[in-house]
Order: sequence, then structure tokens, then C-alpha cells
Amino acid sequence: MDDRTHTADAEPGERVTVAGWVHEVRDLGGIAFLILRDRTGKIQVKFATDEMDDELVDAGTNASRESVLSVTGTVEEEPRAPTGVEVVPESVELLAPAEPELPLDPSGKVDADLSTRLDNRTLDVRAGESKAIFEIRAEILRAVREYFRSVGCTEINTPKIVATGTEGGTELFPLTYFGQEAFMNQSPQLFKQLMVGSGLERVFEVGPIFRAEEHNTPRHLNEATMIDFESAFIDHNEAMDVCEGTLLAAYEAVAENCQEQLEVLGYGDSFAVPDAGFPRLTYEEAIERINATGELEEQLLWGDDLPTEGEKALGADVGGHYFITDWPSEIKPFYIQDRDDDPQLSKGFDLMHPEMELVSGGQREHRYDALVEGFEQQGLDPEAFEYYTKMFKYGMPPHAGWAYGVERLVMTMLGLGNIREAVLFPRDRQRLSP
Ligand code: ATP
Ligand code: MG
Repeated sequence: MDDRTHTADAEPGERVTVAGWVHEVRDLGGIAFLILRDRTGKIQVKFATDEMDDELVDAGTNASRESVLSVTGTVEEEPRAPTGVEVVPESVELLAPAEPELPLDPSGKVDADLSTRLDNRTLDVRAGESKAIFEIRAEILRAVREYFRSVGCTEINTPKIVATGTEGGTELFPLTYFGQEAFMNQSPQLFKQLMVGSGLERVFEVGPIFRAEEHNTPRHLNEATMIDFESAFIDHNEAMDVCEGTLLAAYEAVAENCQEQLEVLGYGDSFAVPDAGFPRLTYEEAIERINATGELEEQLLWGDDLPTEGEKALGADVGGHYFITDWPSEIKPFYIQDRDDDPQLSKGFDLMHPEMELVSGGQREHRYDALVEGFEQQGLDPEAFEYYTKMFKYGMPPHAGWAYGVERLVMTMLGLGNIREAVLFPRDRQRLSP
């Protein structure tokens, strides 16, 4: 399909065709260098401007930056070239010209603001940091899928157009489905639970979720990608083990397979895989520790959700990833099981990065009567969820699971300041295109 040679594979002595984008042209008088870039790297093409055919020299050195060229020639050793080799060209073909005025500089030498970069993602991802971020994101998803397979999961895909939201509420995007009201799904929660009861037992999904978050924040999107896991015959503690395992698998894969990308992002050797055995704090310990930091104006009371500043204060105190367990039942959703010894407390948990929440999960309520009661307590109409509750009458095993936000995982792993850096075409309050 593609019989060109990638720049990284060009060996001295070979006759090759390389193709890519014009990264730079340097005319030194008598000699000119074209630096051609493809996804594997860059290669130098040398033009002896006085000796070579004028048409050949023009084609190689007059093309504007970011034009696409195909160059056929011989690879020669050249210790002074950036990669130790250069191509002596026989022919140059202009495959696609680029206008001389670019909306942003793909080499990143000239800084562009995030909004300009997002408007011109194609150019933004061509070289440098953005490309590295998306290559790492792909590696994370590859590693996560492999990890899931190693623990016996089946990958599933569930609908994104639904009749009812997972948890109801204001975060739903409504749409019209053949004259009937429908919504974009907020989470695969209910569907993945239905599938652990299906005999698949252990499932995962990587897919989009849609939330009408009202405010623009650096860590919320209106369309995000979620990694969902759910398994029969495990409890919340085992679900936390798998959750930690997934995160470590992702970090290890990036450390092992993305050295080049980490260097581009300024990590070099300083990229660290977190130590296994994340601390598990109870919610009560968490609010006590937050209160003890003195960072909050008002002390937190039992039953309060953790405010962003509280999460950050605790994160700084703990200094690494940690779980929060034993949340008050009333601030966790209806599908989370209460503790048997104390129904005020739930078997829900969150995995926290020092900067923000990464995961919510828990042991689920699998007993029909308790589930329906939970719906009513949260002011939801069990009738509207009959497709879901009904299946709990036909043998639903005990089960637990969780959901990661992919963009938050990428963001926290790479220390990105804004979640939009981790998604190609973000959807937020201002951004519906591209
Ligand atoms: P938060 O309280 O931070 O808004 P949440 O508790 O509403 O998050 P969950 O419903 O628990 O979110 O979703 C599970 C995970 O999905 C979150 O921990 C987070 O990593 C990710 N996530 C949720 N909402 C968003 C969003 N709007 N944008 C990006 N990621 C999100
Ligand atoms: Mg949550």
C-alpha cells in the first residue's frame, strides 16, 4: 500500500523514496538542506545547488514549509546530519502545497494559544508536544485493553442514545428521537451492570459520555471518554485492586514504550510509575485530614461532598494517588450498596490523583428490593428504569466496578494544565466545532 521508506528506517547505501512534510529549508549558498518530517522523525535531504538540475533544486528548496513532498534518492552516511544520514535526491515530487501563511507553527517555535491550536488541530498535532500527547493517549488505551484482557474481561459497546439518564438530573443533553424525547448517555453504568448478569461476568468499555456541565473548568468536558469496568463476584475492595492495576499498567506501558514522547514533553528520565499499594482513606479520615490542613475557610462537616480546594489540600498532604472509601450513602448514587454494618456508609470509592478525582466506583446493590428502595430514596421513578431493575429479579450476582475519565488520566499523568490538551476536538460551552 505504502512503498515509501520511513525516515527512521533509511539506511546508508539504499535507494529510497521518503515522503512527508517540509519541516525546514536551509540555504547555505552552494548547498541547501531540506528537512523532511514524517511520523517516525526527520531526515536531511542535501541539494548541491550549483551542480544539480535547477528544476530538482527548485522543487526541493522552494516548497513552502508544511508542503508535502516525496523525495527519491540515495541514502548516504553523514555524521553532521541530525540523524547521521542524508538523502542525495534524484527526483522530488510536490504532493500537496501549503500556503506560506500558516495559522500556527507546527514546530512549536512560535507559541500559539490553546484556542488557535484547537481550531487548527491538524497543524497542531503535526509535530512536537501535541503529537506526543496523543501517541501516549493511544498507548494508555492499548495497555488498558491488554490489562483488561489479562484479567478475563470482555470488551462491550453500549448505546449512547438512551431513553433515561443514568442518574437523571440536569447534566443530560436531550435530543429528539423520531418525535420522542431521548438523551445522550451520561455513563454506561446501567448497561454494564446488566452485562455482568448476562453471563459475560466481567466486562469493560471504552467509549464517549456526554454531560451538560454548565461551567467551563480545566478538568470538565461536555463529551469525555470513559473507561468502564464491571465484574460479577467481586466486592469493592477487589474492584479497587483492579482499578489500581489498570492505572499502573498504563503508567508502566508509557514508561516502557513512550520514551521519545516523554522526552518531547520534557520528562526525560523523570517520569515515575506510582508505587503500588495506594493508601485507602475512609471518607471520615479524609475530611479530618482536610480540616487539619487549615486550607479551607469553613470546616467540612460529615456528609459534605469534597470541594475542589479540599481535594487539592488532601492531595498535597497525601502526596500521591489514594482511594477514598466509606462515603456517606446519601452522596453516592442509588446503585451503590450500603455497608451491612452501617447503612449510613456506602461501599462506594473514589480514586484520587493529588490534583483531582480520577475514578468513581463501588460495590453495587444487586438485591432487587434494596435497589428499588434506593431509587425511591433518591427521588427517581423506578418505573422509568424498569428495563434495568427487572433483570435484578432473574439472578443478578453480587458485583462491583468503576469508571475512569481517560482525559483526566492523560492529564494527570503528563501534568497538563487543561483537560482540553488531552482530547483532539474538545466539546465545551464555547466549542462545538471543529
Ligand atoms: P466530578 O465530581 O469531578 O465532576 P463526577 O463524580 O461527576 O466527577 P463520575 O460520574 O464519578 O464523575 O465519573 C467517573 C469519572 O469520569 C470521573 O472520576 C472523571 O474522571 C470522569 N469524568 C466525569 N465527568 C467528566 C467530565 N465532565 N469531563 C471529563 N471527565 C469526566
Ligand atoms: Mg465521581
